[in-house]
Amino acid sequence: MYHAFLIKYAEIAIKGKNRYLFEDALVGRIQQALKKAEGEFAVRKEQGRIYVDCLGEFDFDETVGALKKVFGIVGICPLVQLQDEGFERLSEDVISYLDQAYPEKNFSFKVNARRARKNYPMESMEINAAIGERILEAYPDTRVDVHCPEVMLHIEIRNDINLYSTVIPGPGGMPVGTNGKAMLLLSGGIDSPVAGYMIAKRGVAIDAVYFHAPPYTSDRARQKVVDLARMVAAYSGPIHLYVVNFTEIQLYIYEQCPHEELTIIMRRYMMRIAEHFAGERKCLGLITGESIGQVASQTMQSLAATNEVCTLPVYRPLIGFDKQEIIAVSEKIGTYETSILPYEDCCTIFVAKHPVTKPNLNVINSSEKKLAEKIDVLVREAVESAELISVTA
Ligand code: ATP
Ligand code: MG
Repeated sequence: MYHAFLIKYAEIAIKGKNRYLFEDALVGRIQQALKKAEGEFAVRKEQGRIYVDCLGEFDFDETVGALKKVFGIVGICPLVQLQDEGFERLSEDVISYLDQAYPEKNFSFKVNARRARKNYPMESMEINAAIGERILEAYPDTRVDVHCPEVMLHIEIRNDINLYSTVIPGPGGMPVGTNGKAMLLLSGGIDSPVAGYMIAKRGVAIDAVYFHAPPYTSDRARQKVVDLARMVAAYSGPIHLYVVNFTEIQLYIYEQCPHEELTIIMRRYMMRIAEHFAGERKCLGLITGESIGQVASQTMQSLAATNEVCTLPVYRPLIGFDKQEIIAVSEKIGTYETSILPYEDCCTIFVAKHPVTKPNLNVINSSEKKLAEKIDVLVREAVESAELISVTA
């Protein structure tokens, strides 16, 4: 019954002169997302609106599902488009629209007509009243409620006439690509995919780096990260994922440094290597899934120690989230079930029983000096041997 979707967007509408850039990006992201849905579509901008026209048969659920993953969309309104063939015909069409859209005819409603074309022979208020009357006649169990209607029926008179009464919530945010790019440190855990999702939501394109430690970590642990990257890519668009073999570096740190400092020192090398790839990919920042106090390596002191080696800004969108709040997002975006698969993680393999929770920067720096002999070579080898995977949803 629907011919098109009206796409509502909020935040990007306020960007002044840049507005068209945002709208064009949104159109591009919508076109990309719709490739996943059965059917043929045309996306058009018209008078400050974006429409998705469905050309022929299409799968409604798939289409809405694809649109729900496009950042920048606030609402998705399935539209019935009518030609203007006079008021009589319009009221008949409204009645049959309601018949199909609402099997139970006992709702409260409000008609909200808008004339974008002022030469239409009736004024908006007149249309509201006249159509309202026709609905009450056709469905006597309905009633008008102008304050809090169950069904808000929009009638937009443009060159054609648009009818819609449902707004399916979109993900909000801004179109990916309108805010540069960042490098996500992606582990197989719950937090980092959520962190990537949240930064992508602000319009930032994403690349990622994963550190594994074969043979201590398995191929399926690696595959799990690729799968998570694919899930994030459903929102963020394609991700270039660097898979870095971290084994030699970890073993060397294990040999040379106090074990309780292991995690912090390891994390500092992860950041350094991530920053290297960030430079290669022209990323403007790093992203991690850290949250204050969650584990020993995420106390304020530990975060400061990790942060010290970075020159790029490190974005930590989960910094003030409780674990339950992070889990709620991961369930919403569909990464949770994969994240909790119990495969080994490179960080947990060499983890100390009592890691420092308040690392002292001077102490950490002097421990790292013990790595002087081989670390540069090991880092270079890790960087050069990294595997680059193009991940698309
Ligand atoms: P997550 O659920 O994201 O794994 P976590 O609670 O397990 O987080 P940590 O293991 O301390 O926390 O990691 C903190 C952050 O460091 C992660 O969110 C991620 O951004 C990054 N990180 C940790 N391990 C790796 C890894 N093996 N590869 C890439 N990034 C990692
Ligand atoms: Mg982890």
